[in-house]
Amino acid sequence: MKDFKFKGGQVFLTYGETCAIAEACGIIPIEEPSEIRRKQIQGIITRCMMHYVPASGESKLLGVYLYKDWEQMEALRNTYGYALEVTDDGCIIGLSESLFDCDMQVHHDLVFLHETAHLSEMNHGDDFQLRYNRLEFDYLYYNHVHMDGGKMPKPDRKGWKM
Ligand SMILES: [Zn+2]
Repeated sequence: MKDFKFKGGQVFLTYGETCAIAEACGIIPIEEPSEIRRKQIQGIITRCMMHYVPASGESKLLGVYLYKDWEQMEALRNTYGYALEVTDDGCIIGLSESLFDCDMQVHHDLVFLHETAHLSEMNHGDDFQLRYNRLEFDYLYYNHVHMDGGKMPKPDRKGWKM
């Protein structure tokens, strides 16, 4: 397959280069994502990074790759997404095939936003939650997802890690 680059945001390595970094970290990436997944992931990056303002001192997003969580080491099983710090100031984000079992764009996007919040905090502490809340607010605002008291359909995320 010809190597390619996702566009938008801070993503600047090619897909192949991102996979090579993931592999060096013990992850088995999907080296040839389908055309459908490429388009879906490009859409996620575009929607989530369009209004993205980096927090001071946070890592840069170096690339995004696709993986099958059920084929990975224990820590990655049952994950929708996985952010990994690979340099002093750089992270790569993986998205699992399992994420796409649910066909809701907003679900894909909110998982990706969760992973981008890890660019500033690698844990799930209070600072992480603050960062995520801000990203989510901006995303919902700019994408006109209305939280108007009605119930937003929510996929069942019980038992899944991010
Ligand atoms: Zn997380």
